[in-house]
Amino acid sequence: MSGFHTLDEVDARGKRVLVRADLNVPMENGRVTDATRLERTAATVTELADNGGRVIILSHLGRPKQRTPELSLKPVAQALSEVIHRPVGFADDCIGAAAESAVGAMTDGDVLCLENTRFHRGEEKNDPAFVDALARLGDIWVNDGFSVSHRAHASTEGLGHKLPAYAGRSLEAELAALGAALESPQRPLAAIVGGAKVSTKLDLLGNLLNRVDILIIGGGMANTFLAAQGRPVGKSLCEHDLAETALGILHKAKTQNREIVLPVDAVAAREFKANAPSRVVPVGGVEADEMMLDVGPRTVEHVMSVLARSRTLVWNGPFGAFETEPFDTATVEVAEAAAELTQAGNLVSIAGGGDTVAALNAANAASRFTYVSTAGGAFLEWMEGKALPGVEILRARA
Ligand code: AMP
Repeated sequence: MSGFHTLDEVDARGKRVLVRADLNVPMENGRVTDATRLERTAATVTELADNGGRVIILSHLGRPKQRTPELSLKPVAQALSEVIHRPVGFADDCIGAAAESAVGAMTDGDVLCLENTRFHRGEEKNDPAFVDALARLGDIWVNDGFSVSHRAHASTEGLGHKLPAYAGRSLEAELAALGAALESPQRPLAAIVGGAKVSTKLDLLGNLLNRVDILIIGGGMANTFLAAQGRPVGKSLCEHDLAETALGILHKAKTQNREIVLPVDAVAAREFKANAPSRVVPVGGVEADEMMLDVGPRTVEHVMSVLARSRTLVWNGPFGAFETEPFDTATVEVAEAAAELTQAGNLVSIAGGGDTVAALNAANAASRFTYVSTAGGAFLEWMEGKALPGVEILRARA
């Protein structure tokens, strides 16, 4: 069904299995602050190890351009060991003598984590010599990092050309859940796109219009649309130079007969800080020295009524500056409504993106959604309908 090989077809015993996981977890003072990504990849690692594989984990952490001690995966390997309840060895390089001797010392069922792949420039360049150096360490390659599959890097794509290629359990689960939502969704299909900037989500908005029935625009993005319609936005976050683009999207929606939902009111404040004095204004009613930092109660009500007549929801981006109270109100209320509709069996709800997941967690709604993707960029590109190189190579090798 999937179009790629999965772990069902792997006889792992005695094999050196290179697993590309996403261990790019948030850290503070050398400690992992959110282990969600480790938990997601645990199934693949334990299944392969239980079946006698020698599991060699590859991942990046952060965006180093060279060896950067603070971005070592060593503490993450330790945290993974706690999540999977078994030892996880560590080699302080991902290629060369250190990696080769650590891999050479493994026995069946062992788990080894290699140092940050991005300590080498060849990783992001998908450099053939670097791919070869990685490939020497393994007999097969398993991609379990959906969230890095939008990158054609050495460990996320290059290895698929060199070694037999398989999808890991978390990547498989992610694609199944996302595929169910956008490939043959129950309609009406609504999308919420919020967050900060139109410029970063322009492709997304345009492509989504081809696929969804209703497009709900919130967050700072909505301000660009409101300004393009000639409404004052005061000092709100707004990309005035994208007015034409915003009008183009509205025009496309009209000609394609799609419903667009824009805010009808907003929560405005003069200061962007926690519990700053704020007031609800109809759109257009904002003063020159005010910022619209959340959508208002009438907008929330409208969005809720739209969701009540929708059958599928994909959501990326908060409705307001949700990290700062009280500008989290709309996001929390809509999240709660979507969670309740999902629990009642009336809505398939899929959300993704780092900020969105943080907002849904803060709203205590994430666990009641149908599926929450930990992927940021990959989730957006998937929503846009773009091919993900790390998935395409699995299909090409099937
Ligand atoms: P994104 O990464 O595009 O999903 O944007 C998320 C960010 O958008 C969060 O940090 C929010 O605080 C911010 N945001 C959402 N709405 C607004 C707004 N009306 N004004 C300023 N920032 C906003």
